[in-house]
Formats: sequence, C-alpha cells, structure tokens
Amino acid sequence: MYSPKSLKAEEFISNEEILASLDYAEKNKSNIELINSILDKANEMKGLSHREALVLLACDIDEKNEEIYKLANDIKQKYYGNRIVTFAPLYLSNYCVNGCVYCPYHYKNKHIPRKKMTQEEIEKEVIALQDLGHKRLALETGEDPVNNPIEYILESIKTIYNIKHKNGAIRRVNVNIAATTVENYKKLHDAGIGTYILFQETYNKESYEQLHPTGPKHNYDYHTEAMDRAMQGGIDDVGLGVLFGLENYKYEFTGLLMHAEHLEAVYGVGPHTISVPRIRPADDIDPNSFINAIDDNIFTKIVACIRIAVPYTGMIVSTRESQETREKVLKLGVSQISGGSKTSVGGYANPSEEAEESAQFDVTDRRSLDDVMNWLMELGYVPSFCTACYRAGRVGADFMKICKKQQIHNFCHPNAILTLKEYLEDYASEKTKKTGEKLIQTEVENIENPTIKEKTKEYLKEIENGKRDFKF
Ligand code: SF4
Repeated sequence: MYSPKSLKAEEFISNEEILASLDYAEKNKSNIELINSILDKANEMKGLSHREALVLLACDIDEKNEEIYKLANDIKQKYYGNRIVTFAPLYLSNYCVNGCVYCPYHYKNKHIPRKKMTQEEIEKEVIALQDLGHKRLALETGEDPVNNPIEYILESIKTIYNIKHKNGAIRRVNVNIAATTVENYKKLHDAGIGTYILFQETYNKESYEQLHPTGPKHNYDYHTEAMDRAMQGGIDDVGLGVLFGLENYKYEFTGLLMHAEHLEAVYGVGPHTISVPRIRPADDIDPNSFINAIDDNIFTKIVACIRIAVPYTGMIVSTRESQETREKVLKLGVSQISGGSKTSVGGYANPSEEAEESAQFDVTDRRSLDDVMNWLMELGYVPSFCTACYRAGRVGADFMKICKKQQIHNFCHPNAILTLKEYLEDYASEKTKKTGEKLIQTEVENIENPTIKEKTKEYLKEIENGKRDFKF
C-alpha cells in the first residue's frame, strides 16, 4: 500500500504507485489540457507531485517542452539566482565489500589497485585541493567495515577540518558513504558534516537486488530507509540521487520524487540536494552493456522536470558529464557542479597514471578548476565557494523556510561574490582574475538590499587587505 508517511521502504516507494503513475503519464503525454493545467501549477513555483511531474517528463508536445525548459531556468533563478556552487569529491579509500555490477570497486575486481589513504596522505591531498581553491568537499569511500570503519571516516573529517595551509580552508565536508546505523549518523552529525549524500542507484527493488548481488548493500530496504535513519540521527540535510542508466528512467524519476515527498511528509524537510549521475565507463565497466542508458535529450528533460517538481532543492551535476552537457543543464536548473575533479584515491596530490587506475569512473570534463571558473563566468554565472548556511546554522527546516520563500538568493549572491573574490586573490590565473574582477563590479551593483551592498563592498576591500572568510 502506498503511504508517503510510512517508514517502510516498500510503502513510501510503492512499486504499484510507480507503475500506475507510468501508465497515467503514458496515457496523458499528449493531453494538452492536462499538461496546461500542470504547467499553470508549476508556474506558481511551489513544486509538483510525482504524477504531475511525470506527465511533463512524458509530454511529447514540442512547444510545451520548450515551456518546461524555460520554466526550469526561471525557477532556478528565482530560488538561487545566478550563482553556481562549486565543490570537489575526495576519495579516501576504494576498498569495498559489495558486489555492485556497475562500479569497478566491487570486491570481485581483483586487478584494480586498492588504496586507502593514511591521515598524512589525506592531509597532502586536502592541501592540494586547497591550493586549487576548493572550500567544499564531498567525501567518498567504498563500504568496508574493516578497512573503512566509521572511526576512520570520523578521524579523516577531523583531519580535514583542522588543516591550516596558507589562506586555504575546507569549510564544509559533505559525506557520501554507505547506508549505516542511526548511531553512526549521530557521530557524523557530531563531527560537523554538511550534507549526507547517498544515491539510491535504482528504486526498482527487483533490479536493485540483481545489481547488488552480494554484500550489505544487497538489502534494498536498509538502503532505501537510510535517509530516515540519518534524519533520526540528527543529520539536518540529506542528498538524494539515482544512477540513471540502471533502470527505466521514468521509473527512477518517479521513485526519486516519491522519496522527496516522503522526506517532506515525515520530517517536513525535503532533500537538500538531488544529484543526477549517469552511468559511465570505468575499469571493468562498459556502459553499453546497460540497456537503459539515456541520451542527452532525455537527460536534460529529466533535469528540467526535477527542477520544476522540487524547486527548493540544490541540483548537482558532476564531471561525469561533458562540458557541452553541463552547459545545457546549467540552463535547466542545475545549481551546483564539481570542478577539477579526480575520482581516484590520492589523485590530487599525486596525479599519476597509477593513481588514475584506482578511479571510480572516467571523468569526462577534465578541465582545471580555473578553466571551469572562467567558463562559468563567461556564461554569466557567479561561481561560488560559499559554505555560509551550514556554518551559520541555516540548515534543515530553517534553511527550507528561507529557501521556500525564495529568499535564499539574498544570501547566496553576496556570499558568491565574496568567495569568488577570495579565489581571485589567492588562486586564479591572470585571465580568470581579469574576468572575475569585472564580473564582481557588475554583480555588486546588482545587490538589491542597500545595507548588504555596502557591507559587501566593505568586505571586498578587507579581502584585498588579506582578511578572509566573510559571510552573510
Ligand atoms: S548562502 Fe547558503 S544556500 Fe546560498 S550558496 Fe551559501 S551555503 Fe549555499
């Protein structure tokens, strides 16, 4: 029985409800009256139900699809303005006991070099990331209770927050580790993590069990209920995602939105972020063997429809995607991207071929962070290293209250300007510095609130004089 408020995976992600929604959307994909009424509701920018959003995803009327794309961009602007938050993944260890068939870290892969960083190595890796200009990281590890126990993760977080090197600082550590217990989530919360991210991979239980044939991850219910345990453990912000390509994309899209509805229904706080990874080639993984792989047209439509359905969420696209695709989805609601990423263990401090061999997937956008910064600015965005909300306690329900009133951009915009300025002072190439200074001059004048505008100008001068870490 479908029940968004239930704490049981198979009730809040109901297979019957998904199948009924797929049928409804298929029957109504050309129903212009219904599509118009859904678009009217979507124009209020308060979100849509999974069924309504699925009809838009299925919609085959070109002119209506254009409206969908435009609306997705408008919603992103209204909620988050023109800032794009930038981060990098940090792989601590690729030891893993699971048997996931789409990931080269699966335990049966005997030829991938296994590596787990020591605290000294983590320090070097983080200094290399700081020297690129990063302030926000997403920690990644395989699941391995012996090699990567929770104590190792906690110690690593402590190491990362404590590193003092020139003007660098990692100010927010998001964590993407395997589903765990309420007790361990409490420990992660106490360690001061930002968002806890866990990809569902697929919402289809049968496929899930086939794709995860062995290891603790095989347990669909335990994995699907992880966000509930995280919330019960006091984690304020959680990030959802599926690996598109594993199952029928419409099925995944519906499951993802139902998961968001469930979190809203039970905790009053939907997903802080939604990621949209697509399956990529890797060590012993050939994406062509996955018959559900999706092309760019479907991918961009999914991004636009998620933005419309869950307007408040941060939407993340990684360097799995090419520059070209990233450019397309930036115009459809994406609000966070990674840049200059390495998906290998130790790949930042030691970018050798050997390190690359331990990578989780092939990176498509291989540009440096500086190139990515330049590119974003040339497209009219303000790249941001902001981490202010979580450090100011604007998290969970408090964050959502501001965000849903479409007020968060009043913080995001000046904070993006200030963190961009830090980047220009400390890390940028001459070319990026020139583009950035020009952009800052224009963007400061766009700040609507006169007090914040004056304060921002004051802080910018202080940054030029060597001070750091101003925020609203
Ligand atoms: S102000 Fe908050 S929401 Fe905006 S970029 Fe900074 S941390 Fe993110």
